[in-house]
Amino acid sequence: MAKKQIDIVAEVMDLDSNIVPYLKRIERSLIVSIPIMMDDGKLKIFEGYRVHHSTIRGPGKGGIRYSLNVTLDEVKALAIWMTWKSSLLNLPFGGAKGGIFVDPLKLSKKELERLTRRYTAEIINFIGPDIDIPAPDVNTNAQIMAWIMDVYSMQKGRTIPGVVTGKPIEIGGSVGRDSATGMGMFYVLEALCNKLNYDLKSMSIIIQGFGNVGGWIANILYNYGSKIFAVSDIFGGIYSEKGLNIKELLEWRDQGKFLRDFNKNNYKHISNEELLTTKCDVLVPAALENQITNINADKINCKIILEGANGPTTPEADKILHNKGIFVIPDILANAGGVCVSYFEYIQDIHSYFWSLDRVNKELKKIIVDAFENVYKISKEKNLILRTAAYIIALSRVAKAVELRGIFP
Ligand code: GLU
Repeated sequence: MAKKQIDIVAEVMDLDSNIVPYLKRIERSLIVSIPIMMDDGKLKIFEGYRVHHSTIRGPGKGGIRYSLNVTLDEVKALAIWMTWKSSLLNLPFGGAKGGIFVDPLKLSKKELERLTRRYTAEIINFIGPDIDIPAPDVNTNAQIMAWIMDVYSMQKGRTIPGVVTGKPIEIGGSVGRDSATGMGMFYVLEALCNKLNYDLKSMSIIIQGFGNVGGWIANILYNYGSKIFAVSDIFGGIYSEKGLNIKELLEWRDQGKFLRDFNKNNYKHISNEELLTTKCDVLVPAALENQITNINADKINCKIILEGANGPTTPEADKILHNKGIFVIPDILANAGGVCVSYFEYIQDIHSYFWSLDRVNKELKKIIVDAFENVYKISKEKNLILRTAAYIIALSRVAKAVELRGIFP
């Protein structure tokens, strides 16, 4: 999918034929074996990855995920998307990603810590503030970043906060990093609604995913006054035609509970598949890739899709959605608030000077809304979907960097 998207854009952009294979190429992939002594005294061996797609515009940047969906190919695609995301926002980063094939729900906190520390030790020469800077992603969080930073710092003999972003604030994290992806999503959605003359407050919202991304955008839109009709987690969704009380559901989630066990009058349990095709104004896939495909795209019933997840819509589905008149705000724009505030965190660590929440959100809004305006302008001028327009900007910058630097040797 990631490679197909490059081909689609290459055709529209008339890219040099040498550059297309260069953009598809992965700079380096590391596969590591992670032996962990489990709490019961048994040894288990996990497999982990860290991939650098491109460091042509700066150090690699991208999250680490812990999930049973993780494969080397998945991590490669996610690393490619990080390159475009950083480039679209004009951040001085390339694209990277990491992951471990593991079900974190099955690990104790101590096991999770040992897994993280050993994984970090295995990839230690692959990461660093001027090499590649990991961050949270699916099933990883600030605590996990703190362990990574600790292992890295212990090995180097000094504290190096800039090796990861999304850290706890107490050890060099940035305020507003936890909400950043959600805030960025809100700003781009608001900007598109302004263009289309839609009143965001009166729009009905459905969200797939209730983790860091889904939970924050639900919270932000709920506090803004929009009605959220359905949300879901890995085990399924919950729907109410009167709108959900997101505050209650977030409290439930924060106790470690799942939506399938939440019961309330007028609340109905639905599957993740049903949720995606339920009528609404804004559909927010904020879980995993490959959710909107040629199989269900025809049944999607909304005005705007706001991609909180990376790669939730396949290229085939893009075509179907476009023919239905649905606007898709592409992942590399919609969810780029996370890496944008990661960049702010990185700068704050280098300067040892920390910003206020107000400054973080103001600068985030400026960068993301400017990127949206550029994407929207190209999509209007060239009559292209927003994804293709975003890719034109992102790929051009990387292609230009390749042209200027030349091919080594
Ligand atoms: N995991 C997030 C993403 O997919 C954030 C990456 C980062 O901050 O480096 O964009």
